[in-house]
Order: sequence, then C-alpha cells, then structure tokens
Amino acid sequence: MLQPDYDDALTGPFWRAAREQQLVISWCDACDQAVWYPQHDCPACRRELSWKPLSGRATLLSWSVVRMPLNPTFKTPYIPALVVPEEAPGARLVTQLVDCEPEALRCDMALQVCFRSLEPKGAEPFVAPVFLPT
Ligand SMILES: [Zn+2]
Repeated sequence: MLQPDYDDALTGPFWRAAREQQLVISWCDACDQAVWYPQHDCPACRRELSWKPLSGRATLLSWSVVRMPLNPTFKTPYIPALVVPEEAPGARLVTQLVDCEPEALRCDMALQVCFRSLEPKGAEPFVAPVFLPT
C-alpha cells in the first residue's frame, strides 16, 4: 500500500483520524473490546462496530530494524514494530518506531503515539500514527 484509501469503508476512518492526529481503533461496544483488524461486524456477536479514540499509550511487543532497502518504498533505516495499545490489550498495531536508538529498545517498554508524515517514493506523503518511547 502506497497510500491510505480515506474512503474505504473498513480502513478509511483510521486514516482520516490519523490525518487529524488521533489514534482510533475498531471497537465492539457490546463485547467492550477492540476488533482489530477492522471488520464489517464483530466476529463474536455480529453487532456493528464503532471507532474508539485511544490515549496513544502502548507497550512494545516486537520490532525489527530495516537497514537494507529491500522494499524501496521507504527510506532506510526504519523500525517496523508491533505495539499493544493500553486500552486494547488484545490488539496488535503494525507501526513504526521513531526518535529512538534501536539498542535502547526493550520488550514491554512504554510507548506513546505521535503522528508523522510518511513519504513513500512515488506517492503522496500521508500522516500515519507512529510510536516513540516515553
Ligand atoms: Zn461483539
């Protein structure tokens, strides 16, 4: 994906919120839990989902440091990561870590969301939620 589809029924709300510097997650009010990735309805109870704003606090589950430009879309080095939002412990957000030294990263360390303009080659820049250590 080089560019978010702001009009997509499933992912558009996430990217529109990111553009406004807000982190949101697909949520089932009946089950009171996140449904991630976004789906048309809750896989447990089949009710309609809503979008819940998150605090942006999260913990680090896993990461990697990409130094070789295997995919020419993004400038290297960068740190793709899986993070766990505080309010949605069952969810795993695929994101990037910024403003940190890879050697200082530790599992379960506290993170905070921030919003950066990503600039994939050959496509328009877009705002994405990324994380940095607190
Ligand atoms: Zn449900």
